[in-house]
Amino acid sequence: MNKYVIIAAAMAAAMPATMTFAEGHAMTVGVSWSNFQEERWKTDEGAIKAALEAAGAEYVSADAQSSAAKQLTDIENLIAQGVDALIVLGQDTQAVIPAVQAAVDEDIPVVAYDRLIEDDRAFYLTFDNIEVGRLQAAAVLAVQPTGNYVMIKGSPTDPNADFLRGGQQEVLQAAIDSGAITIVGEAYTDGWQPANAQRNMEQILTAQDNNVDAVVASNDGTAGGAVAALTAQGMQGIPVSGQDGDHAALNRVAAGTQTVSVWKDARELGKAAGEIAVALAGGTAPADVDGAVTFTTPGGNDMNAVFLAPVPVTADNLSVVVDAGWITQEALCQGV
Ligand code: BGC
Repeated sequence: MNKYVIIAAAMAAAMPATMTFAEGHAMTVGVSWSNFQEERWKTDEGAIKAALEAAGAEYVSADAQSSAAKQLTDIENLIAQGVDALIVLGQDTQAVIPAVQAAVDEDIPVVAYDRLIEDDRAFYLTFDNIEVGRLQAAAVLAVQPTGNYVMIKGSPTDPNADFLRGGQQEVLQAAIDSGAITIVGEAYTDGWQPANAQRNMEQILTAQDNNVDAVVASNDGTAGGAVAALTAQGMQGIPVSGQDGDHAALNRVAAGTQTVSVWKDARELGKAAGEIAVALAGGTAPADVDGAVTFTTPGGNDMNAVFLAPVPVTADNLSVVVDAGWITQEALCQGV
């Protein structure tokens, strides 16, 4: 062994198994978050970071703070920092497309994370959001098979809002057709902000003279807003759905003010995103990613996609999230 080989071997042993990339720099993956204030994204971030670290890749990120315009400059900045792959939680499915174009121009693969980007050059990684909607409506319908329903939808710029709403409708359709239930109010929630959900819920309650029996809310944040509006009218305890397994929501499930939180193990999604980003940056073809299927988007694009399965959590199976180490029994009892 000549001295250079010995030095190289010693350096390799002393260094983490960093994946070296073009021009010898460590592979870097940039993540563009849309609304990092939502509780779940911290969990997703931890899992992405761990997956990148395991692959010897580095993590850089930016938060668009619910601004589609900021997300574009965030992504430009990440590209300028020399990222080798991008993971994008889109604020606006259409407005983000120029950023995908900029990445494609630099041969940087893009993972559309959790939310669809209407561009078949991105790889789509998410949970089955139509199924999330079905599970939300089914849990509410099981405990409230008749009466007046309110639909609190997600952000109008996030395709998940309509995927969820579509799944909810599938499950409710027969009860609507038979006249057992009536949808008396429905509203999108700008930016998925709980305060906007609360305001929409208040307006619907006022318009309906509080004649409301159930709320199909599309995530735990908006469920929290709806429950606050219901509580102000002394109506807490009517069925309300959500998703994400937010700790506050799981406590509401335990306390009986929320019926279901559809749990999507963000640790699994984040891990998959880190691994897929590294694989794509390393030259793996999108169609060869483990578990990849072809998904036809509402806009008619065929995308390479991976879907993970969601799990409904109600008062009957709260142990699922405790057993999975998602929440401790102690944290679950807080507020109960
Ligand atoms: C995600 C949800 C999340 C919501 C608001 C959706 O696209 O799928 O898990 O609660 O965005 O951040």
